[in-house]
Amino acid sequence: MKKWSIFRVNSVKKVILVQHLPFTGVIKYMRCRKSFAALALAAVLTVTGCGTANGTAGGVKTNTESESVPGTDSRGGENTGTAGRDGGAAAENESESSAKTAVKAREKDIHERTIFAMTTVMSLRVYHPDGEAILDKAEEEIRRIESLFSTGNPESEIAKINADGEGKLGADAVQLLDKSLSIYEMTNGAFDITIYPVMRAWGFTELYDDENLIEKENTPVDIPDAAALAEAVSLVDSSAIEFDPQTGEVRLPEGSEIDFGGIAKGYAAQRVIGLFEEMGVSSAMLDLGGNVQVLGTKPNGKDWKVGIRDPAGEHTVIGVIACRDRAVVTSGGYERYITGKDGKTYHHIIDPKTGYPAENGLVSVSIVCDDGTLADGLSTALYVLGKDGAAECWREHPDLFDAVLLTKDGKMYITEGIEDDFASDVYDAEVIRRA
Ligand code: ADP
Ligand code: MG
Repeated sequence: MKKWSIFRVNSVKKVILVQHLPFTGVIKYMRCRKSFAALALAAVLTVTGCGTANGTAGGVKTNTESESVPGTDSRGGENTGTAGRDGGAAAENESESSAKTAVKAREKDIHERTIFAMTTVMSLRVYHPDGEAILDKAEEEIRRIESLFSTGNPESEIAKINADGEGKLGADAVQLLDKSLSIYEMTNGAFDITIYPVMRAWGFTELYDDENLIEKENTPVDIPDAAALAEAVSLVDSSAIEFDPQTGEVRLPEGSEIDFGGIAKGYAAQRVIGLFEEMGVSSAMLDLGGNVQVLGTKPNGKDWKVGIRDPAGEHTVIGVIACRDRAVVTSGGYERYITGKDGKTYHHIIDPKTGYPAENGLVSVSIVCDDGTLADGLSTALYVLGKDGAAECWREHPDLFDAVLLTKDGKMYITEGIEDDFASDVYDAEVIRRA
């Protein structure tokens, strides 16, 4: 059990908590409401990983239950084939204790790192004897991807394409654009990377470039008028992008600009998991600011437990997904926002049809999928689509992903595929079934 302490008071409503993990030297951050902080400080959290990778600027959305108690849940029980025979019990005990020893050894190989990248706090954990070197490579890869797709950095590949309106994309951008266009098709345009002019009209682009993001979020700003938004929305149309995935040649329509913000963290997570696999890691967990992705199982052979954070901040988690080799990515309108001079808050998931923050009755969407990039794009898109649109999209692709939807009026829905893997103490989730 690890104690949280207050690190910084960010605003009237929010604070940053910090947790020092014994033995590892790792520091965890959690950005949260004051009311939730009081609770956390008083109670000592039993579900760890609350905000594992979130803090100064990130969306605290998906939490990984990271409590692994060495030795208490070994896989010994699976090796009891000889039980009941003469001598079987002794053999069983021996194999059970060697299995326990193996689990303990694996658990000792834990290596963790917390970094700030892609405007969020990220935490990475691997179980491997060469963990530190592997984490160095992972961090390098994340920073490489960040430098390619940071719209605010004029030197980035994406900024250059936006400035020139055309160009030849590298291998990473080819993959991201290709996937973004398929998600655009899959979601009837709810996911549209040509959203950038609208993000700029709202001022979100400046927000992301600012280190004092939380203070900025709460400083009232002018919100764009309807005419300015209509003009920006007229430039949003992924179907007008000319793109040849074979050659990487891309041409954007006049005035159009691309923003991979809804999918880049998922891609980074997917790439890092790929790197881990190449380097022989069989157990790892990433939390890239709400984009959780796990490799294999926990070192004790059991499923990872990924908690979904409560958008209202009243509960530590509102549900837990047991999974292995999966991405669990959550989008919510509750984390990143701007405050208008009209006193309202405006979040950063935009309905490409209107140019306004999507208000289709959802407060949180989590996607469970074996592809982190797809999961990220879909979490943004299904948030835009709303519950019925999201259910329809899932019914068209029930084998591709699963979802947990939380509505504004306090109902939870899960898709059929995760029925047996999902548990919630807070909601009685209704199951969305195949047609
Ligand atoms: P987060 O980045 O907090 O994890 P999301 O994955 O939902 O959240 O991504 C939100 C980001 O996606 C926005 O900041 C913006 O860059 C981009 N975006 C917003 N609306 C859309 C949309 N309808 N389609 C594609 N990208 C979007
Ligand atoms: Mg997303």
